[in-house]
Amino acid sequence: MTSTNDLTGQTPVQWRAWAKGLGLPEFRGDQCFSALWSGGANTFTEVKGLPKDLAARLDTAARLVPGKEVRRQESRDGTVKSLLEMADGKLVECVSIPTSDRHTICVSSQVGCAVGCTFCASGKNGVERDLTPGEIAFQVLFHHRRRPVTNVVFMGSGEPLFNYDNVLAAIRLLAEPKGLGMGRRRFTVSTSGVPKRIRQLGVDEPQVTLAFSIHAADDETRSRIVPLNRRWPLQEVLEAMREYSDLVNRRMTFEYVLLGDDNMSEAHAKSLADVARRFHAHINLIPFNPVFETPHRRPNWDQVETFAKWVDQLGGHVTVRGQRGADIDAACGQLKRRTELDPPSMAEGDGIVANDSPPTRQA
Ligand code: SF4
Repeated sequence: MTSTNDLTGQTPVQWRAWAKGLGLPEFRGDQCFSALWSGGANTFTEVKGLPKDLAARLDTAARLVPGKEVRRQESRDGTVKSLLEMADGKLVECVSIPTSDRHTICVSSQVGCAVGCTFCASGKNGVERDLTPGEIAFQVLFHHRRRPVTNVVFMGSGEPLFNYDNVLAAIRLLAEPKGLGMGRRRFTVSTSGVPKRIRQLGVDEPQVTLAFSIHAADDETRSRIVPLNRRWPLQEVLEAMREYSDLVNRRMTFEYVLLGDDNMSEAHAKSLADVARRFHAHINLIPFNPVFETPHRRPNWDQVETFAKWVDQLGGHVTVRGQRGADIDAACGQLKRRTELDPPSMAEGDGIVANDSPPTRQA
């Protein structure tokens, strides 16, 4: 009955074509798109104005939304981490980070991750598959129904530039004026360093912000904690970042996870400040959130302050990112990984809320 298995990822034009392909008037496609993006509908039966028998047939043949929330962790600071189960049973994390004037969603771009950073739970089993545009956009829509979303960061599981086409399609869908209408500058794509795609993003979507997850500014340390560095060493990535930055005429951002003794010596601070100065980059320092199954530990506040001071004194522009969701498994991949390893013990006593009900729309 349907020409696509990713209806959530369709643009209004594609919805109309879908309706036409089913022998329906094109406005039925418009109805479905509006009900999905602004009407809170999770099924065709919930699409206002659709004849009941048609809605029932559509629900039998296709899914309006690609997944449902199966678990949730709520932090004392308002951060909410949701575990979404997709139609094939794959689990995907997304995190809602509210502040007084923003609502940022951290989304996943792949199931698992091929990069295998040593401090991250998402890469433990490698990559399982790419997420579709609809599965990516739905993570945003899901939280938008509780509170309007202002910003989206691609910092969940997966390397977004390894799923380039679907990530761009999701951004374009979320920017669709008839849907959420989000401005391109509201999106930040974080990469561990894929030179060809960095250059391409500057051409295809120059308004989208690109952040480089550098985590160490020397090849020896970086190859140890971000294995992708062995394939594309730092200099190669930085050259691509330079071209990107010249093209979009914006300052670069470096993300740097502070991993206790592993990347926080004075020598590490010096090499980071040197590179940042050369590239006029802003540095976000992110104190590591403890992750089980990793060799790293969280630095204490004195270490964080000392490292930030070293970088600052050497001329790097630096910010220490506030810890959000530290009392839940806020780091990428932890809730999914815990759920896979130990499903029965997670329902009580650790802040997880099991949830089988579909999201409801924010009034
Ligand atoms: S930190 Fe990002 S790039 Fe590294 S393994 Fe985790 S999801 Fe992949």
